[in-house]
Amino acid sequence: MTNAFEGAMYLAGRWERGQGPDIRVENPATAETIGTISEASTSQIAEALAAARTAFPVWANLPAPVRAQHLKRIGAILSQRAVEIATIMTMEQGKPLNEARGEIEKLAQTFVFYAEEAVRVHGEIIPNDTEDFQSFVFREPIGVVAAISPWNYPAELIGWKLAAALAAGCTVVVKPPELTPFTALAIARAVEEGGVPPGVVSVLTGSGETVGQALVESPLVDKIAFTGSNRVGLAIQKSATTIKRLSLELGGNCPMIVTASADMDAAVKGAARRSFRNMGQICIAVNRIYVARPMYEEFVTRLGAAADALVIDNGLDNPAADLGAMASGAPLEKTKRHLADALGKGARLVAGGSAPQGEKFARGHFFRPTVLADCTHEMQVMTEETFGPLVGVAPFDTLADAVALANDSPFGLAAYAYTKLMDEMRHLSRRLDFGSVAINTVDAGIINAPYGGRKQSGIGYEHGREGMFEYFNLKHVRVRYDLPEGA
Ligand code: NAD
Repeated sequence: MTNAFEGAMYLAGRWERGQGPDIRVENPATAETIGTISEASTSQIAEALAAARTAFPVWANLPAPVRAQHLKRIGAILSQRAVEIATIMTMEQGKPLNEARGEIEKLAQTFVFYAEEAVRVHGEIIPNDTEDFQSFVFREPIGVVAAISPWNYPAELIGWKLAAALAAGCTVVVKPPELTPFTALAIARAVEEGGVPPGVVSVLTGSGETVGQALVESPLVDKIAFTGSNRVGLAIQKSATTIKRLSLELGGNCPMIVTASADMDAAVKGAARRSFRNMGQICIAVNRIYVARPMYEEFVTRLGAAADALVIDNGLDNPAADLGAMASGAPLEKTKRHLADALGKGARLVAGGSAPQGEKFARGHFFRPTVLADCTHEMQVMTEETFGPLVGVAPFDTLADAVALANDSPFGLAAYAYTKLMDEMRHLSRRLDFGSVAINTVDAGIINAPYGGRKQSGIGYEHGREGMFEYFNLKHVRVRYDLPEGA
């Protein structure tokens, strides 16, 4: 375990510490330091990028089944090490161990999924106006990718980019978040042991403002694959100094609609899970719930009880806890701000609203899952991403009102609905202006279907074939044929 927190970065096939300043990494449940990383220097960044450029034609020209074998091997290694890497994740991110383990298992599946997709990359033959011409369309890997990720899913948000880009034939420089670098470095170990040639993947630690920004500005980077906040996503879009492909998976403010026909038990259970899992630090967390007026009070009372029943604990001591610590002080402070704003504007506190009591919670970033009723769009909880364990509830009278409220947002990542009526399902799935709509379930994503945001929630897709197609350029080859002699 000591090795896992040494903090050496994976640079062009070598392990070495960054030459820049140290960054302390702490356990958010206890405030203890678990290790330090060091920032990659300008020359180390340049070396990683040069290595990625050199490795690109070699990796791109390997037969797809060979690349796929590497990806499968990485998937197998990750799967074998699920508990070990999950422990690292819980120590640096705070989510309970069982949940962290589930994330590593899904990461392993992502590598296997893209190994299978790697060998199914086809082109097209397009007919021309006359018979002597033919058009071929090929997919070719883009080149060097900078993958920049946040801390809420320290493994998967790297894996969706890394596995898809490697499957396509791209080389990748990963910039993991400052809060959770050790999970990323454990993934780099699996990549190395999976036999991926040196230079194809580097993982450079350091701050976003220096290492991340240097990647954004480098002319050697052909594509930036970014998941993170809207503020940084927009800054990246504005600050790229050369033309680059860009995919941005940004924040949301996700609604849930509970119609009068809904299964109340399922709706309450779903709302409690998707509002509070990972302490609400999920881009597709349910932030605001609109409930048909006849069932509103019952729903509010039951959701409050479901929130109170969730077990909060140190996720290492209690691997099966529902909730662990929040990852840092920043999202906790934002949660408190949104709570105070809503209470000041007339919201009713139904559950939570304070930190859990007891010595074991004294030093960590803990907060009780919090339910607010009678919320309006004057309140931040209903209009901005909280990224914490806070959800606002409001009643609605007609389905048209519910859809209008749900769509009244600059964000368009995911929306949820509970209804038993087919007509309502169809209407909601068509009218909700979001990249994902989940009905009678709150597990909106699967690895083989595209996932991406609309409006201010981003551009581009991850998951599915579409998640790999983000790493290709198209090439049109047009050929003129002569009639063969004697024909
Ligand atoms: P963040 O934007 O602060 O940081 C994300 C990454 O960008 C980090 O690695 C950071 O170091 C880096 N970075 C910061 N400044 C940079 C710069 N100038 N240039 C390049 N890189 C820079 O986000 P966060 O607080 O780590 O994560 C939370 C946010 O991520 C939330 O808004 C959440 O909704 C979003 N998110 C979105 C999705 C999605 O799929 N749409 C998934 C998870 C999280």
